[in-house]
Amino acid sequence: MSVLVTGAGGFIGGHLVRGLLADGMAVRAVDRKPLEEWYQIHPDAENIVGDCSLHEVARGVTTGVREVYNLAADMGGMGFIESHKAECMLSVLINTHMLQAAREAGAERHFFSSSACVYAAGRQSDPDVTALTESDAYPAEPEDGYGWEKLFSERMSRHFREDYGLTTRVARYHNVYGPQGTYAGGREKAPAAICRKVAEAVVNKTSTIEIWGDGEQTRSFMYIDDCVRGTREIMAGENAEPVNLGSAELVSINELVSIVESIAGVQLERKYRLDAPQGVRGRNSDNTMFRSLYGWEPSIALKEGLEKTYAWIYDRIRSGRPAL
Ligand code: NAD
Repeated sequence: MSVLVTGAGGFIGGHLVRGLLADGMAVRAVDRKPLEEWYQIHPDAENIVGDCSLHEVARGVTTGVREVYNLAADMGGMGFIESHKAECMLSVLINTHMLQAAREAGAERHFFSSSACVYAAGRQSDPDVTALTESDAYPAEPEDGYGWEKLFSERMSRHFREDYGLTTRVARYHNVYGPQGTYAGGREKAPAAICRKVAEAVVNKTSTIEIWGDGEQTRSFMYIDDCVRGTREIMAGENAEPVNLGSAELVSINELVSIVESIAGVQLERKYRLDAPQGVRGRNSDNTMFRSLYGWEPSIALKEGLEKTYAWIYDRIRSGRPAL
């Protein structure tokens, strides 16, 4: 029996499929995008194009699978989620139908990829932020649109477990980055966007960089390898409550830019766009619960992960390959 990954044509899904295959698992990979638009295609997986927001598709792809990693979602960075709230909320159809399908198929486990966007905005108003702990999700005041949908679907996962006995697992991802992810087109997140802007400046021999906000907003960024490892451990483990999966290495966006500049060997003049979307003022992951459950925490250093991410994005831009 195989393991199902939805959203497999996307960033995290593509890496997760690779990891599962490497461990000898039979993997069914599903995404709504045409195959030629998948970020990674693994020939050893059973690759299916299908829209999991439709119940019959969700049911079809879940038939005969042992575990479901549900990563499919309409999502993006702040620029996308602040202006596509209805689209983000429509992911509730994916999450509803994947839970129903997993139950109907008698799957042993169902994993839902939630987000740090479920956390109350009032706790993220200072760049010198106190790291977010799991209980901070309530009283509920999540990111409008995207965050509300994630919180609702977390809750639905919980009730499928309590009422129907489906084993559900939920991770709250904090900003994930790495190669083979979105870096252009409006859905990209800060690390990929900054790598792209610096790489474009190097390739085009320009000297300025546009930064959204004043650059003093803070975040933590988790490298993809830590994300895949953590996802699989959460799925395999006994904890059923939503748990943070993120790095606790807090940096400002200005610091992020400086790291990428040092990797690229340039220094650019910074132009701050104060009217651009910038999300909460500060956000970090409190990993106390994760550490106590799994005995480690995401710790691949930002500089190390950015070196790999920048090299991959620079290479694509320099060689004129289509942007993801
Ligand atoms: P991504 O956009 O690269 O991948 C998501 C994939 O889902 C896309 O390829 C998309 O085509 C697919 N999809 C969308 N609707 C679908 C549908 N109806 N049926 C089938 N496939 C569909 O995003 P990602 O960064 O890989 O994120 C994966 C999951 O992790 C998402 O649920 C996202 O909300 C969550 N998450 C990601 C981050 C992050 O920093 N990347 C942070 C928090 C949560």
